[in-house]
Amino acid sequence: MQPLSYARANDVDSAITLVAGDPGSGFLAGGTTKVDLLRLGVEHTDRLVDINDLPLTAVEELADGTIRIGALARMSDVARTPILRHRFPAVSEALLLGASEQLRNMASMGGNLCQRVRCTYFRDGVSPCNKREPETGCSAREGLNRGHAILGVSESCIATHPSDVAVALVAFDALVHTTGLDGERTIPIDDFYLLPGDTPQAEHPLAHGELITAIDLRPSPLAAGSLYLKFRDRQSYEFALVSVCAALAVKDGLVADVCVALGGVGTKPWRARRAEQVLRGAPASDESLARAAAAELSVATPRAGNAFKVAMAERALVRGLRQSMNGQAA
Ligand SMILES: Cc1cc2nc3c(=O)[nH]c(=O)nc-3n(C[C@H](O)[C@H](O)[C@H](O)COP(=O)(O)OP(=O)(O)OC[C@H]3O[C@@H](n4cnc5c(N)ncnc54)[C@H](O)[C@@H]3O)c2cc1C
Ligand code: SF4
Repeated sequence: MQPLSYARANDVDSAITLVAGDPGSGFLAGGTTKVDLLRLGVEHTDRLVDINDLPLTAVEELADGTIRIGALARMSDVARTPILRHRFPAVSEALLLGASEQLRNMASMGGNLCQRVRCTYFRDGVSPCNKREPETGCSAREGLNRGHAILGVSESCIATHPSDVAVALVAFDALVHTTGLDGERTIPIDDFYLLPGDTPQAEHPLAHGELITAIDLRPSPLAAGSLYLKFRDRQSYEFALVSVCAALAVKDGLVADVCVALGGVGTKPWRARRAEQVLRGAPASDESLARAAAAELSVATPRAGNAFKVAMAERALVRGLRQSMNGQAA
């Protein structure tokens, strides 16, 4: 039994002060990650600062067309927001394909971005794990690694980033707004997620007590034709083995623009920039899609248990891009 105290913050400033001023404190939003990790003994927090009373639940359109999603907006509410479904269908689909309806009703967008990895060695609380306890080793490299990453891995850690919606947010270059003791800042989402390198315990650049306040989706001409596909061991309530967010525009038979990202295969939500580079200006054909997918996966580093993900991710990329292309033609 770990003793744990609880405080409820009424405004952003007091939430930040309560957590930043005390290394043993942490934010509590929906609790669907945080409470599990405390119960498992993976994270140790002396005081939970409940942020659910903060006015950060809105999903609104700004004057320049940006959609601003409050950090405490619930996954289910965001997924059903008409303007988001219409302008960024892949973001809505990624949310609806995550977790379960009950969890989505509890889980916040800020909490989703900060969720921890699902690696069983990390979560068992005892196995050597560089992410949970630096410099103890990585049990997954030679152990059970079927669900682990093949892109962005390091000697220190091969855990997959588990979020679905982060994959779609990475595809559309979302911005993460934060407030901390040093003031406000805006972090491009691709920079929000760090590769494990030699320091897998650091997953994002937030300082202790820095609060995510909102996520911005800026207008994207591609996004209305976007889609999110998720491939997993069962049809619901399961994390992705591979997922893809794709959006592609064709002009005069050539790929005019494209954005694509992969989930389930990267140590961070994986923007498929190599594939995008191959596709821009190429003929809008199956051959180009296959070349792009092969280029993206050419840098994969599979292990014994997850080698199947290389071919699976290639097929997912081709299928996602083809469906987006065909949807546009229809
Ligand atoms: C059984 C199960 C299945 C799941 N399946 C999926 C899935 O398929 N796809 C998927 O994407 N996710 C899945 N999830 C993860 C789920 O989406 C996350 O647990 C949830 O989004 C976390 O949000 P929360 O509000 O509950 O966060 P909390 O648990 O309250 O917090 C999580 C972390 O984020 C920090 N935090 C929360 N809000 C902020 C903020 N505003 N600023 C800074 N830090 C903050 C907390 O301090 C904590 O460290 C699943 C979870 C479970 C339990
Ligand atoms: S893959 Fe990462 S999280 Fe899993 S055991 Fe290795 S270091 Fe820990």
